[in-house]
Amino acid sequence: MNTTSDTLHALKPTIDRMPDPAGRAEAAALESELAAVHGVRHAITVSSGTAALHTALIACRTGPGDEVLLPAATVIMTVAAVTATGAHPVFVDAAAGGRGMDLADAAAKTTERTRAIIPVHLAGRTDGLVELAAYAQSVGLHLVEDACQAQGSRTRGRAAGTIGTIGCFSLKDGKIISSGEGGYLLTDDAELAARAAAYRTHWLTPAPHAPAGSRLGMNYRLAEPLAALARHNLTRLNTALARRREQARLLYDLVGETPGLAVHAPGPEDDPNGYSALWRVDLDRPRDFSTRLAEDGVANSVGTYRLRAAHQHPACQYLNPAPCPRAAQAVDQMLAVTLQPQTTDTELHHLAETIRREAKSWAEGR
Ligand SMILES: *Cc1c(COP(=O)(O)O)cnc(C)c1O
Repeated sequence: MNTTSDTLHALKPTIDRMPDPAGRAEAAALESELAAVHGVRHAITVSSGTAALHTALIACRTGPGDEVLLPAATVIMTVAAVTATGAHPVFVDAAAGGRGMDLADAAAKTTERTRAIIPVHLAGRTDGLVELAAYAQSVGLHLVEDACQAQGSRTRGRAAGTIGTIGCFSLKDGKIISSGEGGYLLTDDAELAARAAAYRTHWLTPAPHAPAGSRLGMNYRLAEPLAALARHNLTRLNTALARRREQARLLYDLVGETPGLAVHAPGPEDDPNGYSALWRVDLDRPRDFSTRLAEDGVANSVGTYRLRAAHQHPACQYLNPAPCPRAAQAVDQMLAVTLQPQTTDTELHHLAETIRREAKSWAEGR
């Protein structure tokens, strides 16, 4: 019972029984459950993680003329959410060792037009998040967490996505909790929650200082059958997290000490969710190495999904981004092996064997 279609099948009776899809009872129940699970006051469901980021930025009053700081080491979805508001994305370089955003660079790029900072917890990692949150607070900026890959990750005992002003999550297939497509936002701030809920449904509901019908919004609603799916999967959050962490641990153990691969160990106060197993590739042409692994069946961010630092992405060149050399190097050297709930231990053995063999032959120049 791991894929969306399995879950859908199990849920068919529930979905058949749904009395009033327009009543949004499933989405409302999911919101209460998400808020309770994360210990926050408000959860707002939306149609995707990208929609969650866009809605969060709008709730924070981000618009044309504003700037938003985000790591160069991110996926294009984060960038797209910023540009969709009309604001200008400003890329921040990575900290030493590719561990989160560089605070000094973020500070240097903060101007009076900066409205928000978006840390992105790639591979479920939260390096430097607490320090960044403290910086954002000290200068009065919203911290909007892109926690799409960090469901269940914790740092200093606090859950990723609950540390900033708003946390954004995806329910797409492959994330820790999924409904095929979908997303949600978490916040303790009632006004931000009301603005997010209003924007999600064409501003048909009121928010403080912005009555119903006073603005334009979007339809970013999560469909009722998908909300039912997400509720079902949310009950298995702890099992899903335990399995991911176990898979990551097993893969690290099996790959062991392999020349050219350095485990990206979490900081002492970080407890990542095992979203991906993460190494730094210290081999020549690391991107080609990751591509070779992908061709050999080891799905990974760079080789399979062509992840590259956003400031180097062709679609971002019109933004005239400043160079972010540490982020570029960190992404190029990042081996984030995709883990899926249905991946068996036997398959993990096979993946580890492939990684070891390829690293060895790459190091020997073959
Ligand atoms: C998946 C993901 C998104 C986008 O989520 P969608 O639901 O696909 O729109 C954004 N940021 C990160 C880091 C992601 O992993």
